[in-house]
Amino acid sequence: MPRKKIVAGNWKMNKTYEEGLALVSALKNASRPESVWMIVTPPALLTREVSSMLKEQNQLSVAAQNCHQETSGAYTGEISAPMLRAAGAELVIIGHSERRQYFGEDNALLLSKVRQALAHDLQPIFCMGEPLEIREAGTHLEYVKNQLEKSVFQLAESDFKKIILAYEPIWAIGTGKTAQPEQAQEMHQAIRSWIVEKYNTETANDTSILYGGSCKPANAKDLFSLPDVDGGLIGGASLKADDFLAIAHSF
Ligand code: PEP
Repeated sequence: MPRKKIVAGNWKMNKTYEEGLALVSALKNASRPESVWMIVTPPALLTREVSSMLKEQNQLSVAAQNCHQETSGAYTGEISAPMLRAAGAELVIIGHSERRQYFGEDNALLLSKVRQALAHDLQPIFCMGEPLEIREAGTHLEYVKNQLEKSVFQLAESDFKKIILAYEPIWAIGTGKTAQPEQAQEMHQAIRSWIVEKYNTETANDTSILYGGSCKPANAKDLFSLPDVDGGLIGGASLKADDFLAIAHSF
């Protein structure tokens, strides 16, 4: 997939049905930048309704926050990729640090989730990023490279080309502490160079790599103007239409 400007909002476990639909309505009716693909990621209960609200909308899509690695079966409480696709989800976030940390999802499991998503026509937004102690030890590049090697770098090139990557340093998520532009650029450039090594330059240049971690209207411009940053995965600031739109207008 050719590289795009993307702003994806991850609502996490926030917004009731009415609150969620009000937020989507506000985004739908607002003036949005034509060149930016905006993605909303509500809790799965809202997927179907949001998807029907967004029919015919240009550059405004609905994603899911997670999917199970199996197609169906005795997995109480879980949601499968085909269920999400049938409900209208176009993409799915896989490997968010909260899933890794609180639900013990490791690289091997995440790879099976990515394969499952791709098998059911859901585009993965694959997250990676280092915790604070790794950043302080100065081994963040090796840490993130290892996350990629053990997961999505196992994919054939034709599948890898379908995914969107999101670099999210864990110490910046929900903390108000954003990565400095040079820290984000260093990692994004490194990720792109590893894609060149693993696949080739064309694939690397076509891969959209988002930054996530306390991105907000005040810092989005500085981040999005970096050569290897193609947009943002936004948590807290995606819960308010005005903030999310201001971020989308920051390219
Ligand atoms: C996230 O959870 O993906 C995220 C980036 O959160 P926040 O923007 O709130 O730091």
